[in-house]
Amino acid sequence: MGFDDLLAANTTYAASFTDTGIAGAAAKELAVLTCIDSRIDPLKVLGLAPGDAKIVRNAGARVTDDALRSLTLAHNLLGAKRICVIAHTECAMVGTSEHDLQARVAKAANVAHCDVDLLPVDNQLATLATDLERIRNSPLLQNVTDLGGFIFNVRTGELTQVL
Ligand SMILES: [Zn+2]
Repeated sequence: MGFDDLLAANTTYAASFTDTGIAGAAAKELAVLTCIDSRIDPLKVLGLAPGDAKIVRNAGARVTDDALRSLTLAHNLLGAKRICVIAHTECAMVGTSEHDLQARVAKAANVAHCDVDLLPVDNQLATLATDLERIRNSPLLQNVTDLGGFIFNVRTGELTQVL
């Protein structure tokens, strides 16, 4: 399949690209952690433009060690004072067990075992609350001014703050 289609699209993009001179810091003082789900366009969901926010993504929008690493940098060095964690409806990470998910991955990869912790979610709201606590308890994120947990509805486009 290659990448020709993507590079061709980029040629078009670059042809009309103008350097706005925006800085690397988050203009809206915002960092967003959300899922890798391809139905979510974080900038559009929140009415943002490039330059406005630091976007961190992983499967399930989980506050993993690496998500914390990025949020720590976004907050302390890149101007993000507010943090939104955005889970979503119909997330493939919800309602499956670690064992089952690892078995599916191992089968797809045609290997005996998947030894990666895939971090599926049992109770989405409870997990979101636990994940927000990880941010709240981080000694390097004590100056975050606003921390919220949200659910994005992939069918309606609506974003609801739940925590
Ligand atoms: Zn998801």
